[in-house]
Amino acid sequence: MKRVIIEKHGGQEALSFQDSDIPEPGPGEVRVKLKTMALNHLDLWVRRGVQGHRFPLPIVPGCDGAGIIDAVGEGVPKELLNMETLFSPGFSCGQCQHCMNNDDPLCAKYGILGETCDGTCSEFVIVRQQQCLPKPSSVSWEEAAAFPLSSVTSASMLEKANLKTGETLLVIAGTSGVGSMAVQMGKMRGSHVIATGSTEEKRDKAIDLGADHTIDPSQEQWWKTVKQITNGNGADVIFENVGEATWEQSLLALAKGGRLTTCGATTGSTVSIELKRLFFKNQQIIGSTMGSRKLLKDLLEPFAQRKLVPLIDGVYPFKDLVAAHERMESRQSIGKIVIRF
Ligand code: ZN
Repeated sequence: MKRVIIEKHGGQEALSFQDSDIPEPGPGEVRVKLKTMALNHLDLWVRRGVQGHRFPLPIVPGCDGAGIIDAVGEGVPKELLNMETLFSPGFSCGQCQHCMNNDDPLCAKYGILGETCDGTCSEFVIVRQQQCLPKPSSVSWEEAAAFPLSSVTSASMLEKANLKTGETLLVIAGTSGVGSMAVQMGKMRGSHVIATGSTEEKRDKAIDLGADHTIDPSQEQWWKTVKQITNGNGADVIFENVGEATWEQSLLALAKGGRLTTCGATTGSTVSIELKRLFFKNQQIIGSTMGSRKLLKDLLEPFAQRKLVPLIDGVYPFKDLVAAHERMESRQSIGKIVIRF
């Protein structure tokens, strides 16, 4: 089978194709013959390396994927063979207090495909049985791969921020993988949604997804537009995943009692906070990463009903993985980049 491995961190040249044996599932595991996989920013971090963090190299990158179970390990019911599946990118011990409370990203043994073990840039992948969820028949293979990581991350952030009906949600980068999910989830929760988009095409797309207003973040003091739209109040919940480039204005756009939740820092992660404003305004800043398997399972219903539809920028054949990385790094993409095997 073909797979891509990263032996040494670097640019696009760090991705190398390799022939290898088809892996065998161990106890409690299944093997999935992948139809599709989708890229995430995590793939870029794993390829480039992150200062102060050690990835287990060599590694097969890729955390999202969908396909057909074609082999099962010891202790896994044979009925799962031939099941069409999408899977949770995260896995955990399943036994500790955090796992019992459906807080599995806090588990000491939490891991992510393509980050802590070999992932989905491979024709076959081994996953734990518990990670597998049935692929709804109403969604395409491309959508099935594009869904898990971004949807569970967004849903978890909005839950932690306790976004309520009638509140205003500001989604920074409303057409990113997670942003496009947040816009749709905000509307599902009955909130008023404002999205930022750096090009007219991105802003039009955010409106198509259901955003009530859009903002061009290249505008100086765009936070004032958020204030105007909200009659001077600001946004009750701000969905951040950009970091340095937008942080300062995001905080200025936050309402009294507002909650800013962040899952990413695609433009840099060192930011400052005006503490007086934070405490006088009773605001909260909430960090979040990934989401529980239970939450992903609950999202399958709105996904099957097409209330949540992943925004897809483009589909590339597996042999063009490098071009797909290049597209993601260009920051021009609108939504998810999918690979078809
Ligand atoms: Zn655990």
